[in-house]
Amino acid sequence: MCEVCSSEGVDYLFKNGPKKILISSNLYKVFKNAVAPIKLCHVHSIELFHIGERRFLREHLVFARSLATRSKTQATAEDSPFGI
Ligand SMILES: [Zn+2]
Repeated sequence: MCEVCSSEGVDYLFKNGPKKILISSNLYKVFKNAVAPIKLCHVHSIELFHIGERRFLREHLVFARSLATRSKTQATAEDSPFGI
């Protein structure tokens, strides 16, 4: 399921119609020296392409907040003193 739709409570199937394509995308400007992989539906992937990463996150603040909390849990698990 699309991460933006699920965080905003949007009906994913209604928004996309019969096209059920999930596109894996990367956000490059969210974290310092790290890439944030996300899964988007067709509509949201087009929106990300059109308006760009910063404006996309500004439009979907609930999703941006959930991404920030997700990064905290991942950072504690993946933190290595050797930077590996
Ligand atoms: Zn979506």
